[in-house]
Amino acid sequence: MSVPAAPPVDPLAIADQEQALYEVRRKIYPRAVHGLFARWRVACVLLTQVVYYGLPWLTWNDRQAVLFDLSARKFHIFGLVFWPQDLIFLTGLLVISALSLFLFTAVAGRLWCGYACPQTVYTEMFMWIERKIEGDRTRRMQLDQSPWGTRKVALKASKHAVWLAIALWTGFTFVGYFTPIQTLVHEVVTASLNPWETFWILFYAGATYGNAGYLREQVCKYMCPYARFQSVMFDSDTLIVTYDPLRGEPRGPRSRKVDHRAAGLGDCVDCTICVQVCPVGIDIRKGLQYECIGCAACIDGCDQVMDKMGYPRGLIRYSTENALLGKTSEKTTGFGKVTARLLRPRVIIYATILFALTAAFVASLYVRVPLKLNVLRDRATLVRDAGGGRIENVYRLQIGNAEEQPRRFVITATGVPAAEVVLDEASPVEIAAASTRMLPVRLRADAQGLSAGSHEVVFHVVASDDPQIAAHEKSTFFSR
Ligand code: SF4
Ligand code: SF4
Repeated sequence: MSVPAAPPVDPLAIADQEQALYEVRRKIYPRAVHGLFARWRVACVLLTQVVYYGLPWLTWNDRQAVLFDLSARKFHIFGLVFWPQDLIFLTGLLVISALSLFLFTAVAGRLWCGYACPQTVYTEMFMWIERKIEGDRTRRMQLDQSPWGTRKVALKASKHAVWLAIALWTGFTFVGYFTPIQTLVHEVVTASLNPWETFWILFYAGATYGNAGYLREQVCKYMCPYARFQSVMFDSDTLIVTYDPLRGEPRGPRSRKVDHRAAGLGDCVDCTICVQVCPVGIDIRKGLQYECIGCAACIDGCDQVMDKMGYPRGLIRYSTENALLGKTSEKTTGFGKVTARLLRPRVIIYATILFALTAAFVASLYVRVPLKLNVLRDRATLVRDAGGGRIENVYRLQIGNAEEQPRRFVITATGVPAAEVVLDEASPVEIAAASTRMLPVRLRADAQGLSAGSHEVVFHVVASDDPQIAAHEKSTFFSR
C-alpha cells in the first residue's frame, strides 16, 4: 500500500465550512477494507438478511410461520397467535428492545449503528455490488469523472438493475410478512396484486433503493434521531472507536526504514486510509464526532497500515475516554476485554431493568391463557319476558381461541341466582383453531326474587377438556 503525502489544509475552506448554512453533499467513495471488524459486519449482514428474507418462507402447522394478518387482526409467530388485545406484548417487546439498545450503547457505543441497523446493512450490500461492478474507490471515481460512453452506460445500468432487483425483492419480502408469501407469488405471476400490496412493495423498494443507493450516510447524519441523543448514553468508560493522538502525533509520511521516533514523528503516517474507508467520510483523528456510526472500518484500515509499517496494531482502536486520559488501565479496554469495565452504575442499572423486564415478558408469555373473551350487551333490548315467570337479557360473546387446534368451550354465568345460559347451538361450542366466533347468548333468570334494576353478572368460558383454559368477563343483567 503506498503512503501518499498529506493533503495541504486550506484555512479558507475551513472558514467556509463553518459559515455555510447549507452544505452541498460531497459524494463519498468508501474504499474496500478487510479485517476483523469487516468480517463481523459481513457476518451481521448475512445473519440479518437470512432471517429477513427467509422467515416468510417457513411454514408451521400448514401455514406461514410468521404472518401479521392485519385483515384478520391476528399475528402468527410460530406456535403463538396474538390478537389486538395482546398489544401489551408488543409494547413489552419494544421496551425491551429500547433498553437493550441503551445497554449495548453504554457498554460499547454505537454497536447497533455499525453492525445491525438496516441502513448500515443495506448500504453495505449496495456498496458491495457497486464495488463488484464498478471497481474499488479509485476506479469508481475515475468512472464518475469520465465522459458518458458505452462502457460507462453498461456499468451504471448493470449496477442500477441489480440494486433495483434487490430493492424490489426486499419490498416483496416486507409485504410477505402481511400477506401469505405464497399467495403473493401467485398474485405477482398472474399480475393480480391488489393496490395496497402494489403500493407497499414499491414504497419499501423505493425506500431501500434511495436510502442504500443514494442517501447512505446522509440518513445517519441528518435523518436518524438516534445519532443525536446517543451521547447521553455514553460515559467516560464506554468503548468507542478512537484514535490515539499520544501515540500517533505528530503525524507525517516517512520511509519504513527511518526510525520515526528519532525523527520526532508519531505512528500516524498520514496516509488517510482511515478517512478513505470511512462510510460517512469523517476523519476519526479529529476526535469523537456524532457522524461516526462506530463501524470500525477505520480500525481495520489503520491496522493494515500498521502491519505494513511494522508498527503495533491499534493506533485506532476500541478504547475509552478514561483509558486515553490514563485514568484506567489500557489492558481493560480492548474490544475483547470489556468485562472489567462492565461493573459501572449505569450498566448495572440498565442490565438489572432489562433482566427484570425480560423475565416478566417471558413469564407472562408462558402463563398466557390462549383464550379471549369479550361480552357485548344487546343494546336494542334491555330485558324481555321469556315465559313461565322468567326474564332474559341478550348478549353477544366474542370468543377467541388463540391455539393452533380447535377447542370446545362450556359457557356459564354467575351473579344472578339460578341464571341459565341459552345458546342457539349445542353446548359445548366449538371454536376453530386460531379464530374468533361471535355467539348470541341469552341469559334467563326467575323474575321473582330479583329486585328491579341492574345486577352484576359474570360470564365464564371454560375449555371442556382443560379447566386451566378459562376466561371470565363481567357484564350487567337487568330486571324489572
Ligand atoms: S470514523 Fe471509523 S468507526 Fe466512525 S464511521 Fe468512520 S470508519 Fe466507521
Ligand atoms: S490513523 Fe492510521 S490509517 Fe489514519 S492516517 Fe494515520 S496511519 Fe493512516
